[in-house]
Parts: sequence; structure tokens; C-alpha cells
Amino acid sequence: MPHIDSYYAATQAVSCDFEPLTTHIEADVCVVGGGLAGLTTARELLRLGKSVVLLEGNKVGFGASGRNGGFVSDGYAEDVLNLEKKLGVEHAKALFNISREGTKYVRQNIEGFAADGQDPQYHWLGVVRHDVGDKLEKSVEKLTTVYGADYAYWSTDQVRQHLKSNRYFQALEDRSAFHIHPLNYCVALAKDIQAGGGVIFEETQARALHKHHSHFMIETAHGSVKAGQVVLCGSAYMHDLFPKFEAAVLPVATYVVTTKVMPDKLREAISYKGCISDNRRAGDYYRLIEGGDRLLWGGRITTQKSEPKALSNLLRRDIEAIYPQLSGLEIDKAWSGLMGYCAHKMPILAELEPGIWAATATGGHGLNTTAAIGIVVAEAIAQKSDRYKLFAPFKAQWNGGPFGQVAAQMAYWGMQLQDAWDER
Ligand SMILES: Cc1cc2nc3c(=O)[nH]c(=O)nc-3n(C[C@H](O)[C@H](O)[C@H](O)COP(=O)(O)OP(=O)(O)OC[C@H]3O[C@@H](n4cnc5c(N)ncnc54)[C@H](O)[C@@H]3O)c2cc1C
Repeated sequence: MPHIDSYYAATQAVSCDFEPLTTHIEADVCVVGGGLAGLTTARELLRLGKSVVLLEGNKVGFGASGRNGGFVSDGYAEDVLNLEKKLGVEHAKALFNISREGTKYVRQNIEGFAADGQDPQYHWLGVVRHDVGDKLEKSVEKLTTVYGADYAYWSTDQVRQHLKSNRYFQALEDRSAFHIHPLNYCVALAKDIQAGGGVIFEETQARALHKHHSHFMIETAHGSVKAGQVVLCGSAYMHDLFPKFEAAVLPVATYVVTTKVMPDKLREAISYKGCISDNRRAGDYYRLIEGGDRLLWGGRITTQKSEPKALSNLLRRDIEAIYPQLSGLEIDKAWSGLMGYCAHKMPILAELEPGIWAATATGGHGLNTTAAIGIVVAEAIAQKSDRYKLFAPFKAQWNGGPFGQVAAQMAYWGMQLQDAWDER
């Protein structure tokens, strides 16, 4: 399938096309999935001397990686202070440092070989929607001193100088975060893999995976791959290849819109140039694009995979609820995407069976974590480190199968209720 009709597809500056697989081919490693997890894994394996074949069922960047909010920041979908409660400070610190490595990796790339079609804007403001007194300031202090995070605390007055909304209170500013054009980044990685000797096939769904003596056979519609090891990076888009693992990854949809050009009204309402999001369990995330002429706004999560017909109106109303002064704004593009979540909100980075690895389920915090797990899984396969063991507590847990979707949707409604309660 081609890329969906998103703002990113409409403004794609670099493109690439790879032929489907129509023959038999061999490699040290076969990577399944051409999103940022699969692309980073493939690139890092090549750098460590492995031969790699990457299979993508649609186009490179077709999944969440080519249509997300574009915010790159340290951490995981799970809060680092929750990790600390579960694992202790040293383990949580080691995991946080790996997430920071992912952020740095993306930054170096988009400032280097992947700079085409990027206009990175730096910093991220995480605002709260109810007055939390000095609680946030204390968290910021801890995260800076204990974890070395580059965070600053903003008072309500400071926030409202930059975001003209009375819905917002205090904020945390992450000065290591930035935002990118994710589809251009996917394509740049794919081209770099090709230049480094990796082989990519598009429109090539991996349909079956069998163990044959000391190697694996991956079957596609018109060809096959023989590989010593396999890495599963299909996230929420993977189905029927390795079912017992797929049941652990819950597909969660989220929505994004871009507005038509409205520079004056927008710049008056929002003068912060970095990313902005709120602290609700299913909050809004947004940023100015094209130098402040337009707004890219994402929000809501649901387990329903279909796009609601009234997606544009839904998000337009969300924007106007925060910034009533933007009422009458027009939506240009609206789209949805699927994120792969595991119940523990951490990525799955594990050897599921000897020779079959998973590096996936990065949830809504995937732009740095796909890079982080790509680096770490490649090191594990090339036997350069055993850092993947840090992720051992986060097993591929069953999400409840068909009931998992219902449970997750109910949990989501519960989260919305809690959000509303906090605000009241
Ligand atoms: C709308 C939206 C907004 C988001 N915003 C942000 C954000 O601002 N910041 C952030 O950090 N994170 C964000 N995320 C999350 C982030 O985008 C994801 O965590 C990340 O991109 C996941 O990358 P991935 O490579 O694991 O999966 P994907 O990008 O989904 O890629 C999986 C790929 O595997 C392919 N595939 C699946 N099965 C097979 C098979 N059997 N054979 C061949 N190919 C297969 C699919 O076609 C797909 O291309 C957002 C997600 C969405 C959906």
C-alpha cells in the first residue's frame, strides 16, 4: 500500500522505491518491518558487520514511523519515576540513559546525513492542565539531579506568556527534545542502509517464519529469505507471522490534523516554537509548522482502528477548547495511525526463541526509543553487548486477545474520567 494522505506525504522532500522480493535471498539477519525500529536495527547491524535483508509489507515509513507527531525526546511511554519504583534507581537510570542515546542518535542523524527535508525545532514543553503546586518543580529537580535530564521548570505565568490559554498551568521544558519530519527521516535511513550494502524490499509482507536446522526461512508471496537470525519490528501492523508474540502488542490508534495557513491568529496564541503536549493520560500534542503558519495537532487514543468520519471536527473542537481564539480554523489534512503498546508501556526487546528477536512496541514514545532499541538489539545480535538484558523485566505479556481491546478501551475511558476529575 502507498503512504496515506498525510501532511508528511504531501511535503515529502526525499523519496525512495524498493522492488518487491521475487526470488530467494540469504543474509545473516532478516529484519521484518520498515519503520524506525526496523530501519535503525538494520542500519546498526550493517555497521557491526552483518549482512541484512529488510522486508517491508508496504512502503518504508508506512506505519506509525512515517505519520507521527515528530516529537523526539528522552524517556519511554512509561514514566521514568514509575520505572524507578519498580526497578530501583540504578536500573531506571541505565534504561533512561539508553533512551537518551536514542534521542542523540536521531539528532546526530537529522543534523548529518538525514538533513534533507528537515527543519528541526528544538525544545519541548510539557504543560499540566490543573494546578499542581510545587509537585512538578520537585520532579524536575529530581530528574535533573538524579537522572541528568536537561529539564527546566516553568511557572504558570511563564507558560501563559507563550501559550495564551487559561487551560494551562505549570510546565516542564525538555531542552534536549526537538521535532522532525519523520517520513523524510525514514527515507533517509533507508537510503543510508542501501548505501551501506543492506537490501530492502517493499510491498513484501513476511507471511511465514519457519525454523530449518540452524537457520530460519521467511516466506513472502513471491520469494523467501534464509537468515541466521530474525528481528520482528512490525509493531501494531504485524499479524499472523508470529501469533503468540503478536498477542502481546495492543494496537492503539491516535489522530493527527494539520490546519490551513493562519499565521497571525496562530502566532498570537502560540509563540513557543518547540513541541507542546499536556500531561493528561491521553493528552494533546502539537507544534507550529512552516515557521508558524500552520499548526500540527495530535491527540486522543482509542483501540478502534477505523478513522472516525468526523476526525477533522473532533480535533478542531479539541483545539478550540484550548484556544477559543482560534475558532473557525480550517483543517487541511487529517489522519490516524497505530501504535504498538504492551501492558507495561515499555518496548519489548528480547530474544523470544533462540535466533528470533523482537524490538518493537514503543507505544506513543517511539522516535527516540526505536533508535535506542535498534542500537541495543543490533549489539546483542553482533555479540557486542548484553544491554538488552536491562529490558528483561518487560516481558511480551498477553494483552487479553479480543478481550484485550475491550479492556484497553475501558481503561482509556477510565483514564479520560481521571483526567477530567483532576482538572475539576
Ligand atoms: C499518530 C501518531 C503520532 C505519534 N507521535 C509520536 C511523537 O510525536 N513522538 C514519539 O516519540 N512517538 C510518537 N508516536 C509513536 C511512534 O511513531 C512509534 O512508536 C514508532 O514510530 C514505532 O515504530 P516501529 O518501527 O516500531 O513501527 P511502525 O512504524 O508502525 O512500523 C512497522 C512496519 O512494519 C511493517 N510490517 C508489519 N508486519 C510486517 C510483515 N509481516 N512483513 C513486512 N512488514 C511488516 C508495517 O507495514 C510497518 O511499516 C506516534 C504514533 C502515531 C501513530
